[in-house]
Amino acid sequence: MQYIDPHIHMISRTTDDYQRMAYAQCVALSEPAFWPGFDRGSAAGFYDYFRQLTEVEPKRAAQFHIQHYCWLCINAKEAENVSLAREVIALIPQFLKRPNVLGIGEIGLNKNTRNEAIVFQEHLDLAARTNELILIHTPHLEDKYKGTRMIIDMLQNDRRIAPERVCIDHVEEHTVRLAREGGYWCAMTLYPTTKCTPARAADIIERYGTERIMVNSAGDWGKSDPLAVPEFIQEMKRRGHSEEVIRKIVYDNPLAFWRQANNWQEPVWAQRLATKDASANGTATPVPMAQVSRAHG
Ligand SMILES: [Zn+2]
Repeated sequence: MQYIDPHIHMISRTTDDYQRMAYAQCVALSEPAFWPGFDRGSAAGFYDYFRQLTEVEPKRAAQFHIQHYCWLCINAKEAENVSLAREVIALIPQFLKRPNVLGIGEIGLNKNTRNEAIVFQEHLDLAARTNELILIHTPHLEDKYKGTRMIIDMLQNDRRIAPERVCIDHVEEHTVRLAREGGYWCAMTLYPTTKCTPARAADIIERYGTERIMVNSAGDWGKSDPLAVPEFIQEMKRRGHSEEVIRKIVYDNPLAFWRQANNWQEPVWAQRLATKDASANGTATPVPMAQVSRAHG
Protein backbone atom coordinates (compact mmCIF):
# COMPACT_ATOMS: atom_id res chain seq x y z
CA MET A 1 0.00 0.00 0.00
CA GLN A 2 1.35 3.42 -0.91
CA TYR A 3 1.78 5.61 2.14
CA ILE A 4 3.03 8.99 3.41
CA ASP A 5 5.26 9.52 6.45
CA PRO A 6 4.29 13.07 7.51
CA HIS A 7 7.01 13.43 10.17
CA ILE A 8 10.53 12.09 9.75
CA HIS A 9 13.94 13.75 10.12
CA MET A 10 15.74 12.45 7.06
CA ILE A 11 18.89 14.52 7.56
CA SER A 12 19.62 12.08 10.41
CA ARG A 13 18.93 8.97 8.33
CA THR A 14 21.05 7.12 5.84
CA THR A 15 20.37 6.84 2.13
CA ASP A 16 19.64 3.15 2.77
CA ASP A 17 16.63 4.26 4.81
CA TYR A 18 15.27 6.16 1.80
CA GLN A 19 15.71 2.99 -0.21
CA ARG A 20 13.93 0.81 2.34
CA MET A 21 11.09 3.33 2.62
CA ALA A 22 10.74 3.31 -1.16
CA TYR A 23 10.59 -0.50 -1.17
CA ALA A 24 7.82 -0.26 1.45
CA GLN A 25 5.94 2.10 -0.96
CA CYS A 26 6.49 5.45 0.73
CA VAL A 27 5.57 8.07 -1.88
CA ALA A 28 6.09 11.23 0.15
CA LEU A 29 7.30 12.48 3.51
CA SER A 30 7.60 15.73 5.39
CA GLU A 31 10.54 16.76 7.51
CA PRO A 32 9.93 19.30 10.29
CA ALA A 33 12.79 21.48 11.50
CA PHE A 34 14.03 20.06 14.80
CA TRP A 35 16.79 19.82 17.37
CA PRO A 36 19.84 18.10 15.86
CA GLY A 37 21.06 16.67 19.18
CA PHE A 38 23.06 19.78 20.11
CA ASP A 39 22.29 23.49 20.45
CA ARG A 40 23.35 25.46 17.38
CA GLY A 41 25.46 28.48 18.19
CA SER A 42 24.23 30.99 15.64
CA ALA A 43 21.46 31.95 13.23
CA ALA A 44 23.86 31.11 10.39
CA GLY A 45 23.69 27.47 11.50
CA PHE A 46 19.92 27.58 10.94
CA TYR A 47 20.30 29.30 7.59
CA ASP A 48 22.39 26.37 6.37
CA TYR A 49 19.95 23.89 7.94
CA PHE A 50 17.03 25.50 6.05
CA ARG A 51 19.06 25.18 2.84
CA GLN A 52 19.62 21.52 3.60
CA LEU A 53 15.86 21.00 4.13
CA THR A 54 14.82 22.90 0.99
CA GLU A 55 17.66 22.11 -1.44
CA VAL A 56 19.58 18.97 -0.46
CA GLU A 57 17.02 16.55 1.02
CA PRO A 58 14.44 16.90 -1.81
CA LYS A 59 17.15 15.77 -4.25
CA ARG A 60 18.24 12.87 -2.05
CA ALA A 61 14.61 11.71 -1.71
CA ALA A 62 13.94 12.10 -5.43
CA GLN A 63 16.57 9.46 -6.21
CA PHE A 64 14.07 6.99 -4.71
CA HIS A 65 10.97 8.63 -6.21
CA ILE A 66 9.95 9.90 -2.79
CA GLN A 67 8.64 13.46 -2.65
CA HIS A 68 10.24 15.46 0.14
CA TYR A 69 8.43 18.33 1.92
CA CYS A 70 9.54 20.30 4.97
CA TRP A 71 8.56 22.70 7.75
CA LEU A 72 10.69 25.57 9.09
CA CYS A 73 11.17 26.97 12.60
CA ILE A 74 13.48 27.04 15.59
CA ASN A 75 12.44 24.13 17.79
CA ALA A 76 11.39 24.44 21.43
CA LYS A 77 14.66 22.99 22.78
CA GLU A 78 16.68 25.86 21.32
CA ALA A 79 13.96 28.45 21.96
CA GLU A 80 15.19 29.09 25.50
CA ASN A 81 17.59 31.57 23.87
CA VAL A 82 14.96 34.15 22.84
CA SER A 83 17.30 36.53 21.03
CA LEU A 84 18.72 33.70 18.88
CA ALA A 85 15.15 32.47 18.25
CA ARG A 86 14.15 35.93 17.00
CA GLU A 87 17.11 36.01 14.61
CA VAL A 88 16.09 32.60 13.26
CA ILE A 89 12.41 33.55 12.89
CA ALA A 90 13.53 36.58 10.88
CA LEU A 91 15.35 34.22 8.45
CA ILE A 92 12.31 32.07 7.72
CA PRO A 93 10.22 34.28 5.36
CA GLN A 94 12.87 34.18 2.59
CA PHE A 95 12.49 30.37 2.49
CA LEU A 96 8.69 30.16 2.58
CA LYS A 97 8.21 30.31 -1.17
CA ARG A 98 10.51 27.38 -1.84
CA PRO A 99 8.42 24.66 -3.47
CA ASN A 100 8.77 21.92 -0.84
CA VAL A 101 7.90 24.13 2.17
CA LEU A 102 4.54 23.25 3.78
CA GLY A 103 4.58 25.74 6.65
CA ILE A 104 5.92 26.53 10.12
CA GLY A 105 6.97 23.62 12.35
CA GLU A 106 7.57 21.68 14.39
CA ILE A 107 7.00 24.47 16.88
CA GLY A 108 5.75 23.79 20.39
CA LEU A 109 6.86 23.30 23.94
CA ASN A 110 9.47 21.09 25.53
CA LYS A 111 9.63 21.95 29.23
CA ASN A 112 6.65 24.33 29.10
CA THR A 113 8.80 27.35 30.07
CA ARG A 114 7.99 31.04 29.69
CA ASN A 115 10.63 31.55 26.99
CA GLU A 116 9.34 28.58 25.01
CA ALA A 117 5.85 30.09 25.15
CA ILE A 118 7.15 33.49 23.94
CA VAL A 119 8.93 31.93 20.96
CA PHE A 120 5.92 29.68 20.20
CA GLN A 121 3.63 32.72 20.01
CA GLU A 122 6.08 34.60 17.78
CA HIS A 123 6.03 31.64 15.39
CA LEU A 124 2.21 31.73 15.48
CA ASP A 125 2.37 35.41 14.58
CA LEU A 126 4.63 34.65 11.61
CA ALA A 127 2.31 31.86 10.44
CA ALA A 128 -0.73 34.12 10.76
CA ARG A 129 0.92 36.97 8.85
CA THR A 130 2.07 34.69 6.04
CA ASN A 131 -0.98 32.36 6.15
CA GLU A 132 1.21 29.26 6.57
CA LEU A 133 0.16 25.85 7.85
CA ILE A 134 1.39 24.97 11.36
CA LEU A 135 2.85 21.71 12.70
CA ILE A 136 3.06 21.42 16.49
CA HIS A 137 5.32 19.29 18.69
CA THR A 138 3.79 18.46 22.06
CA PRO A 139 6.07 17.65 25.01
CA HIS A 140 6.79 14.10 26.07
CA LEU A 141 5.83 12.08 29.12
CA GLU A 142 4.65 13.89 32.24
CA ASP A 143 4.72 17.34 30.59
CA LYS A 144 2.48 16.30 27.70
CA TYR A 145 -1.02 17.01 29.00
CA LYS A 146 -0.11 20.36 30.57
CA GLY A 147 1.92 21.38 27.50
CA THR A 148 -0.86 20.42 25.09
CA ARG A 149 -3.34 22.43 27.18
CA MET A 150 -0.99 25.46 27.14
CA ILE A 151 -0.50 25.13 23.37
CA ILE A 152 -4.23 24.97 22.68
CA ASP A 153 -4.82 28.01 24.89
CA MET A 154 -2.21 29.98 22.94
CA LEU A 155 -3.70 28.83 19.61
CA GLN A 156 -7.17 29.90 20.71
CA ASN A 157 -5.88 33.25 21.95
CA ASP A 158 -4.71 34.11 18.46
CA ARG A 159 -7.95 34.51 16.56
CA ARG A 160 -6.17 34.57 13.20
CA ILE A 161 -5.27 30.86 13.47
CA ALA A 162 -7.78 28.52 11.79
CA PRO A 163 -7.82 25.11 13.56
CA GLU A 164 -8.03 23.15 10.30
CA ARG A 165 -4.66 24.67 9.30
CA VAL A 166 -2.92 23.24 12.38
CA CYS A 167 -1.70 19.71 13.12
CA ILE A 168 -0.95 18.77 16.75
CA ASP A 169 1.67 16.02 16.75
CA HIS A 170 2.70 13.25 19.17
CA VAL A 171 -0.82 12.89 20.59
CA GLU A 172 -1.46 9.94 22.89
CA GLU A 173 -4.49 8.46 24.63
CA HIS A 174 -4.79 11.35 27.11
CA THR A 175 -4.33 14.22 24.62
CA VAL A 176 -6.01 13.05 21.41
CA ARG A 177 -9.42 14.36 22.49
CA LEU A 178 -8.06 17.80 23.39
CA ALA A 179 -6.68 18.18 19.87
CA ARG A 180 -9.67 16.75 18.06
CA GLU A 181 -12.28 18.71 19.99
CA GLY A 182 -10.52 21.95 19.12
CA GLY A 183 -10.98 21.17 15.40
CA TYR A 184 -7.25 20.58 14.82
CA TRP A 185 -5.64 17.78 12.86
CA CYS A 186 -3.59 15.42 14.97
CA ALA A 187 -0.82 12.89 14.51
CA MET A 188 0.39 9.89 16.46
CA THR A 189 4.08 9.12 16.57
CA LEU A 190 4.97 5.44 16.35
CA TYR A 191 8.04 4.74 18.44
CA PRO A 192 9.38 1.34 19.40
CA THR A 193 9.13 2.15 23.13
CA THR A 194 8.07 5.69 24.14
CA LYS A 195 5.22 7.66 22.50
CA CYS A 196 2.74 5.37 20.67
CA THR A 197 3.43 1.82 19.54
CA PRO A 198 1.60 0.70 16.35
CA ALA A 199 -0.78 -1.36 18.54
CA ARG A 200 -1.63 1.62 20.78
CA ALA A 201 -2.16 3.80 17.69
CA ALA A 202 -4.55 1.19 16.26
CA ASP A 203 -6.45 1.13 19.57
CA ILE A 204 -6.78 4.94 19.44
CA ILE A 205 -8.09 4.78 15.86
CA GLU A 206 -10.66 2.16 16.89
CA ARG A 207 -11.78 4.37 19.74
CA TYR A 208 -11.76 7.79 18.07
CA GLY A 209 -12.20 7.03 14.35
CA THR A 210 -10.27 8.21 11.33
CA GLU A 211 -11.19 11.89 10.94
CA ARG A 212 -8.31 14.42 10.93
CA ILE A 213 -5.77 11.91 12.25
CA MET A 214 -2.54 10.52 10.82
CA VAL A 215 0.49 8.49 11.94
CA ASN A 216 4.22 9.05 11.54
CA SER A 217 7.55 7.53 12.48
CA ALA A 218 9.24 10.74 13.70
CA GLY A 219 12.43 8.89 12.77
CA ASP A 220 15.52 10.87 13.77
CA TRP A 221 19.06 10.36 15.14
CA GLY A 222 17.75 8.51 18.21
CA LYS A 223 16.24 5.07 18.53
CA SER A 224 13.38 5.17 16.05
CA ASP A 225 12.09 3.22 13.07
CA PRO A 226 11.73 4.78 9.60
CA LEU A 227 9.43 1.86 8.68
CA ALA A 228 7.02 2.44 11.57
CA VAL A 229 4.15 3.51 9.28
CA PRO A 230 4.26 0.23 7.27
CA GLU A 231 4.31 -1.58 10.62
CA PHE A 232 1.12 0.28 11.60
CA ILE A 233 -0.42 -0.73 8.24
CA GLN A 234 0.36 -4.37 9.06
CA GLU A 235 -1.16 -4.05 12.53
CA MET A 236 -4.36 -2.54 11.08
CA LYS A 237 -4.56 -5.30 8.45
CA ARG A 238 -4.06 -7.96 11.10
CA ARG A 239 -7.06 -6.53 12.96
CA GLY A 240 -9.21 -6.79 9.84
CA HIS A 241 -9.51 -3.12 8.90
CA SER A 242 -10.23 -2.42 5.25
CA GLU A 243 -7.70 -0.96 2.81
CA GLU A 244 -9.87 2.19 2.54
CA VAL A 245 -9.77 2.82 6.28
CA ILE A 246 -6.02 2.25 6.49
CA ARG A 247 -5.33 4.37 3.43
CA LYS A 248 -7.35 7.25 4.89
CA ILE A 249 -4.95 7.39 7.86
CA VAL A 250 -1.64 6.80 6.08
CA TYR A 251 -2.33 8.61 2.82
CA ASP A 252 -5.60 10.55 2.34
CA ASN A 253 -5.44 12.45 5.62
CA PRO A 254 -1.86 13.77 5.43
CA LEU A 255 -2.46 14.66 1.79
CA ALA A 256 -5.68 16.52 2.64
CA PHE A 257 -3.87 18.48 5.35
CA TRP A 258 -0.93 19.33 3.08
CA ARG A 259 -3.18 20.37 0.20
CA GLN A 260 -3.98 23.55 2.15
CA ALA A 261 -0.34 24.68 1.94
CA ASN A 262 0.37 27.94 0.10
CA ASN A 263 2.94 26.35 -2.20
CA TRP A 264 0.90 23.25 -2.95
CA GLN A 265 1.16 21.84 -6.46
CA GLU A 266 -0.68 18.57 -6.94
CA PRO A 267 2.08 16.00 -7.46
CA VAL A 268 1.89 13.40 -10.20
CA TRP A 269 1.75 10.45 -7.78
CA ALA A 270 -1.32 11.89 -6.02
CA GLN A 271 -3.14 12.48 -9.31
CA ARG A 272 -2.37 8.95 -10.45
CA LEU A 273 -3.74 7.32 -7.31
CA ALA A 274 -6.87 9.50 -7.30
CA THR A 275 -7.61 8.44 -10.89
CA LYS A 276 -7.01 4.77 -10.08
CA ASP A 277 -9.31 4.96 -7.03
CA ALA A 278 -12.09 6.66 -8.88
CA SER A 279 -12.08 4.07 -11.67
CA ALA A 280 -11.74 1.09 -9.30
CA ASN A 281 -14.42 2.02 -6.78
CA GLY A 282 -16.55 4.62 -8.47
CA THR A 283 -15.49 6.89 -5.63
CA ALA A 284 -12.40 7.82 -3.66
CA THR A 285 -14.33 8.48 -0.44
CA PRO A 286 -13.01 6.35 2.42
CA VAL A 287 -15.28 4.16 4.52
CA PRO A 288 -16.22 5.79 7.84
CA MET A 289 -14.84 4.11 10.94
CA ALA A 290 -18.30 3.29 12.26
CA GLN A 291 -18.77 0.80 9.44
CA VAL A 292 -15.66 -1.14 10.29
CA SER A 293 -15.99 -4.08 12.61
CA ARG A 294 -13.36 -4.56 15.25
CA ALA A 295 -11.81 -7.87 14.30
CA HIS A 296 -9.42 -8.50 17.15
CA GLY A 297 -9.97 -9.29 20.80
ZN1 LIG B 1 10.18 15.65 15.15
